[in-house]
Amino acid sequence: MTITPEKLLSDLIKINTVNPPGNETAAAEYLKNLLQAAGVETEIVEPEPGRGTIIARIGQGSKKLLYVSHLDVVPVGGDWDFEPFSGEIKNNVIYGRGALDCKDLTAAQVVAALELLAEGVPLNGELIIAAMADEEKGGNLGADYLINREPGKIKADYAVNEGADQPIPINGKLAYFIQVGEKGTAWCTLKAHGIAGHGSIPTLAENAVVKMARAVSRLHNYRAEVVVVPEVEKLLKSLAELCNLELKSCSADDVDALLEQLPLEKAFVEALRSMTRMTVSPNQIRGGTKTNIVPDYCEADIDIRILPGQDCRYVEKELRMIIGKDIEIEFNQCKAPTFSSAEDPFYLLMEEITSGLTGNDTICLPVISSGSTDSKYLRGAGIPAYGIGLMADGFDQEARSTIHGRNERTDVASLRLKTDFLKELARRYLA
Ligand SMILES: [Zn+2]
Repeated sequence: MTITPEKLLSDLIKINTVNPPGNETAAAEYLKNLLQAAGVETEIVEPEPGRGTIIARIGQGSKKLLYVSHLDVVPVGGDWDFEPFSGEIKNNVIYGRGALDCKDLTAAQVVAALELLAEGVPLNGELIIAAMADEEKGGNLGADYLINREPGKIKADYAVNEGADQPIPINGKLAYFIQVGEKGTAWCTLKAHGIAGHGSIPTLAENAVVKMARAVSRLHNYRAEVVVVPEVEKLLKSLAELCNLELKSCSADDVDALLEQLPLEKAFVEALRSMTRMTVSPNQIRGGTKTNIVPDYCEADIDIRILPGQDCRYVEKELRMIIGKDIEIEFNQCKAPTFSSAEDPFYLLMEEITSGLTGNDTICLPVISSGSTDSKYLRGAGIPAYGIGLMADGFDQEARSTIHGRNERTDVASLRLKTDFLKELARRYLA
């Protein structure tokens, strides 16, 4: 009798892998024992003590399918209604940190592999499972490390990872999403210089904080160019059709008009808005030393998320146009956006299986994320990667906001749906 996904998820939640410090090896060792008992070849890669990623493989052949998840979780914070590491299962709900991000996916992937083995399903190729360390802190000791140092261990034709939004109800249908891309980042620090002076005669000085305040206010009012990538065009057209609206073209006016009319939750509409343009968010500001001194220096950190066709040079050009020449721009982190095609046969297979498992009253749509996951490393290394966020019909919509928040939980039916999807995908792709 194979372990159930809910039991496995519960056991994984009980192993505290809050990053920092991570301690993913404890969870990796637990999985290694479980997998080895079933005769599965496994290996733990540990770039630093305690920071293990586990890789397991079943089947043989030239086709290779990679299932990715991560073992670390974010800190819990206070004010939970239950013990965050209890892993308690009550009334078909599994409680605890990692229940949705993303030990549920780890559990579903591992149980899918174990059940395929137990059922003797022949696989014409390899199913590789990689439960990574360090995703929540950028993946330097997990996916990034593997792609740079040991790419052969996870080289595959396609990868399936976390990253899609959970399904939402639209006009009587449940819309499921497959994540096909992630925006890039162009984080920068702006530096304003002025002339210090006594606060009692400010007209003799030049106030750097005021200069920065003006720049920040202009950035806040900036209207970025609308850019609709093919994957998002497919999404917008389908949403319009589902809501009996029309998307005449993908011009800025038409896209914004559609966003105003879509009868959907604000959180989702704003996510759509961020999928169609670069976003610029001034999030930190530092300046001044004392009430009676006019400051000669002020700096601000800006979170900028970019789309295909945009890079730091483009961002700098835009920033210059908005804030002028007087303020320095220093880029701290530039990461290109990464995409996988929503026309690829593998994507279409995922879509078909989703519809097959969830019934006639569902639809499956491509989506892109404004944040990023380990998929950026995989796509960067030429492995098309797709994110899933399957939940069973009737799932607790409020659980959505518990990711990285308090009271994280999932339900047994959703976990079973994820497991069945992954089993069917491996069976069909590795046929
Ligand atoms: Zn995650």
